[in-house]
Amino acid sequence: MTEKINPYEDALNRLSEVAEKFNIAEKDIEILKHPKKILMVNFPVHTSKGLKIINGYRVQYNDALGPTKGGLRYHPHVDIEEVKALSFWMALKNAVLDLPYGGAKGGITIDPREYTKEDLEKISREFIRQIHLFIGPQIDIPAPDVYTTPQIMAWMMDEYSKIKGKHVPGVITGKPLSVGGSLVRSYSTAMGGFCVLREALAKYKINPLETKTAVQGFGNAGMNFAEIMKGQNMKIVAVSDSKGGVYNEEGLNIEALVKHKKDTGTVVDFPSAKAVTNNELLELNVDILVPAALENAITEANAGNIKAKIILELANGPVTHKADKMLYEKNIVVLPDILANAGGVTVSYFEWIQNLYGDRWTEEEILKKLDSRMKKAFDNLYDNYVTQSYVDFRTAAYAYAIKKIIEAEKDRGHI
Ligand code: NAD
Repeated sequence: MTEKINPYEDALNRLSEVAEKFNIAEKDIEILKHPKKILMVNFPVHTSKGLKIINGYRVQYNDALGPTKGGLRYHPHVDIEEVKALSFWMALKNAVLDLPYGGAKGGITIDPREYTKEDLEKISREFIRQIHLFIGPQIDIPAPDVYTTPQIMAWMMDEYSKIKGKHVPGVITGKPLSVGGSLVRSYSTAMGGFCVLREALAKYKINPLETKTAVQGFGNAGMNFAEIMKGQNMKIVAVSDSKGGVYNEEGLNIEALVKHKKDTGTVVDFPSAKAVTNNELLELNVDILVPAALENAITEANAGNIKAKIILELANGPVTHKADKMLYEKNIVVLPDILANAGGVTVSYFEWIQNLYGDRWTEEEILKKLDSRMKKAFDNLYDNYVTQSYVDFRTAAYAYAIKKIIEAEKDRGHI
């Protein structure tokens, strides 16, 4: 994750390659090579550390399929190139899942761990004051991402509602249940990923109970995924977070590990496990590898050493374009981010519908709808692209999404 790779350039290279493979005209993909709208803000906040000028971004990449949708990230490495890449992937992801949304993403360049809760509330409310004209339930709907929480979404929704002088729960998803959040949203990314993995294991005739899995990143996506795997009696042998990782080839006790992480703030020093670095974790002798942290985890530098048979991308952009090709040559099946982690935005979509209708759906209903959408998206790519055109899942997902967005752009008269 240290290698400096521009994720947006990487994404556009992939776009061009897929278009060429599927004979999509250069003039048709031109519209997808540019974000439609970018808002950059720099705003002062008086924090407990003194006056800080916070810089933030919101990029609405493409809105041909509907209002744009995508998360907000709080991380010291957030920059415009990263946000452009993430917003482009959101446009593709929403198309892959047949959601009535375009793609967006945003973020602010801070390390939230350095600020108090009061500071984060001030920063989050001020960020909404800066971008409120740019977002809205029928315009652009943010959600959580790395280091942003349901509490932050609640402050943001509250601030937006105060500005508008009315309740507008549908402006942001991933909220706590008390203010219009949805059941399942807290573990939806992980659950969607699990559905995709289950389908892939069945297609490739791998017995889930005979697999070993390593998970990089132990936050919303990674930790919930580990808990779901445990519920299915599947073995997780290694996990990591930003401070380091732990490994036990007999399988980790996930319940105890979750408690350890909650008590100490990290998975490091978990008893009855060996220490591994984040890089070592990726190269362990496992069947399933789940990057669930940040971009560029698997690059040309380590792709040759990956031993897993299946990579489930819960993170966005964890495998670079060049690494992808190396993995394909090694017959490693990569279940790409724009399919594998789409459970989050799918349940965000369910939350948005519930907000617009003032409705409440049960956990059972939501899980059923989520499962059926994830399975449908997987089957579509597998049946119509992977086995028809002999391409990897990422190429399949890009091809389906690009065609769908271009069709909408044409019908709108934009191309
Ligand atoms: P989170 O903030 O809940 O957790 C992030 C985790 O990654 C933490 O455990 C952190 O310690 C770890 N981490 C950070 N830097 C790391 C590093 N250099 N090496 C190893 N671990 C590191 O974030 P999240 O919501 O779980 O997001 C993780 C990934 O999943 C991101 O790529 C995000 O875009 C993607 N994603 C999240 C959602 C969602 O609904 N939360 C949906 C789709 C995709």
